[in-house]
Amino acid sequence: MKLSKNQVRYFFLIFATAIFLLPQSVDAQKKKKKNKKGNTEIVAKTPKKAPKKTIKSLTKSSKKIEGLFTIYQDTITGALQMVVSEDQLNKEYIHFAQIADGVMDAGRINRGSYRGSKIFKIKKYFNKIEFVAQNTSFYFDPNNAISKAKDANISQGIMASLKIEAYDKDTKLYLIKAGDLFLKETFLQIKPSSRPGTSPTSFKLGNLDKNKTKINAINNYPSNIKIKTEYVYSKSSTLNNGSNAVTDGRNVSIKVIHNLIALPENDYQPRFDDPRVGYFTNKVDDKTVSSSTPYRDLIQRWHLKKKDPNAEISEPVKPITWWMENTTPIAWRETIKNAVLEWNKAFEKAGFKNAIVVKQQPDDAEWDAGDIRYNVLRWTASPRPPFGGYGPSMKNPRTGEIIGADIMLEYVMFTGSDFQSKIYDSSSGYNNFNNANENPANDYNCNLAKGMLENLHFAKTSALAFGASEEELNTIQKEAITGVIIHEIGHTLGLNHNMKASQLYSPEQLADADFIKGKCLTASIMDYAIINVTNDRTKQGQYDDVTVGPYDVWAIQLGYKPFKNEEERQALLNESTKPEHIFGNDADDMRSPGKAIDPRVMVFDQSSDPIRYAINRIELSNDLMKEVKNKFTKNGESYHELRRVYYTLSGQKANAANVISRYIGGVYVDRAMAGQQGETQPYTPVSFEDQKRAMNALKTYVFSPTAFDAPNDLYNYLARQRRGFDYTQEDPKIHSQVLRYQKNVLNHILHPNTLQRITDSELYGNKYKLSIFMTDLNSAIFKSDIYSSVNSFRQNLQLEYTNMLINMLTSKQSGSYTHNAKSMALYNLKAIRSMAAPSGNIASRAHKQHLRTLIDNAIKEIK
Ligand SMILES: [Zn+2]
Repeated sequence: MKLSKNQVRYFFLIFATAIFLLPQSVDAQKKKKKNKKGNTEIVAKTPKKAPKKTIKSLTKSSKKIEGLFTIYQDTITGALQMVVSEDQLNKEYIHFAQIADGVMDAGRINRGSYRGSKIFKIKKYFNKIEFVAQNTSFYFDPNNAISKAKDANISQGIMASLKIEAYDKDTKLYLIKAGDLFLKETFLQIKPSSRPGTSPTSFKLGNLDKNKTKINAINNYPSNIKIKTEYVYSKSSTLNNGSNAVTDGRNVSIKVIHNLIALPENDYQPRFDDPRVGYFTNKVDDKTVSSSTPYRDLIQRWHLKKKDPNAEISEPVKPITWWMENTTPIAWRETIKNAVLEWNKAFEKAGFKNAIVVKQQPDDAEWDAGDIRYNVLRWTASPRPPFGGYGPSMKNPRTGEIIGADIMLEYVMFTGSDFQSKIYDSSSGYNNFNNANENPANDYNCNLAKGMLENLHFAKTSALAFGASEEELNTIQKEAITGVIIHEIGHTLGLNHNMKASQLYSPEQLADADFIKGKCLTASIMDYAIINVTNDRTKQGQYDDVTVGPYDVWAIQLGYKPFKNEEERQALLNESTKPEHIFGNDADDMRSPGKAIDPRVMVFDQSSDPIRYAINRIELSNDLMKEVKNKFTKNGESYHELRRVYYTLSGQKANAANVISRYIGGVYVDRAMAGQQGETQPYTPVSFEDQKRAMNALKTYVFSPTAFDAPNDLYNYLARQRRGFDYTQEDPKIHSQVLRYQKNVLNHILHPNTLQRITDSELYGNKYKLSIFMTDLNSAIFKSDIYSSVNSFRQNLQLEYTNMLINMLTSKQSGSYTHNAKSMALYNLKAIRSMAAPSGNIASRAHKQHLRTLIDNAIKEIK
């Protein structure tokens, strides 16, 4: 071992003291004996005679930072040592990490994102201290003998095993080097694993650079310690330097805040989950019961306790306090504060007054928003906004208790511009913000604010087209921001999404300004509903949610009301069958083709008749399309804004088409318990009438020869404003945009899951049989023009659809289709073959010849 200069100096000092002050001691006399080189430095290096290293000696040149785990930081090198006391051994702690700053190029590594909480234990193993991640997924009844085998085949994770550098017998303290804990990816993986098949030219982080990685800040408190590390990933050369947010692709910093937290010691009572209400949970399997549902899933909630337990309504001992970060736009502070406090309406029903309190972070505050002791509503204006809003919470993995939360909001919510161009110019079009971009490190992602921006733009476009005042535009903005804030706060209270909630009101009620005034427009603020714009401008009322919904009030009671007994909780749960308590979350939602089964659980739909509401939206968009060139062309400005409006209107139509398509082959799900009042049955297929209505709507508004008509002279103006030397993506590619929207629908209605379900559900009530549906679809795509000239949009659609049918029979994916579906595909191909006789103009004859050739060749291939 190499001694540092300071350590060598220290040894000299000890020997000098020993020689001059204690000449009579045995030790000192021994040291006087000269060895062969005859100097004291050599004596100091002789192991037998070396003075024992002590915490004091090893931390001599360090600054002491006291708290949960005392830290010593060397004043010359910055190296960290950490003290663990004997009574901290074998105890559990929480590790919680948050990204302080990152780059979106490296994956969703962005300011404020939570990287999960884990429980770990500190153990001593001979001369080492171990940090061991604990498994919290199982429960064993301690009274059951099998609980003695509770560790069988469950792997704990030894994250670090660090040598004890010194031990102090009197104070029972161990000293370890902390660099291995905080300067490496010990507690969590930060650099994403490279996925097989990713392009070698895509942006990648280099290797963790030991020399450059450093500790930027240490805050130590009695029950938690916060260490901010700047991880530097380096490489000598790079093919891809990343976006302009990356200054140097060879040296990328990711700043991470590590928090080590003592388990809260309080009288918090965990509460169990129920499938009828949507809380985030810590999943726990009970291994000692024989039930078919051995779940002990703990819901995530704050520790709220009444000051006066006997009062009907009482203030909590400790309210949930939100701080508005000092970066919050001043003009919006009042709106944001009021939105947060809307939740107190729900808490009052659960027996709490002023459960939530909002405070303003002063400009000269000495704490920052990364401090877990503060729940902060944060604002940033990122170069590549990952979302408009995000509301993660930090919880105790053992109990589900929420210990802290933040909400990250992007300034783009007020501006929108950059973001808009991003979604429209990406290859997947509008729907790319419907598909959750999952990041396994986060508990969930909330895409509401992204959708809200799109909705907001549509509402403003439509209002502007009708000559709305500045005041009305402000109202639209205010309602949208209010809705997003209430929604994100809902997540931090433990609530997950409720994508079924938009079923509550009829289209008539939503077009009744007086009726909806001051309301949440769905049963729950936790839904993603499409913005409420009425086709009849004179009936326009509220655009967005301005408070919590009835489901939210009910759910907060289930999570927070101090129940007198289990019967009281069960009685409240039994109210799940009320229409206003309707619930279905992300796992049940149908946003992606082929996913889930209940069409009511859908994103960006609205009303108890989503088919009608969606048709209205398509018609409104079509009407507006005729106006936009006049309304959105401004003298002296480029046509960039007009282009943006065109994509907004097209996007609303595409989204509405997806909503309608989910009704075909749809099955309504009821999660009521057996015998519960108001229960229907778990599965009920969508009625024949509604499926047929959906099919007819798709025929008219998605597949017909004129479905995506826009005034022809609009296409001449869909130009982006040129920017800089490397301006690209000039070409609006109109046909591929339209075909993409149509394919999104076909991908769902021809998905193996959908086709299989249509056949299966014929067994239990589905009257819209596979044969009827597939015949209807064939007609919708061919009948109106196959005997005459076929326009270029329809040629695209007909070929695409024909290829899909062929793929069902001959491609690698054909194995996932049922035999019934394949037979219908073949039947339809033969019908197309006979319809596609030569007729119409030359382009149409060529198209039909193409169809016939494809089908003839495919039929030869069918085995
Ligand atoms: Zn959300």
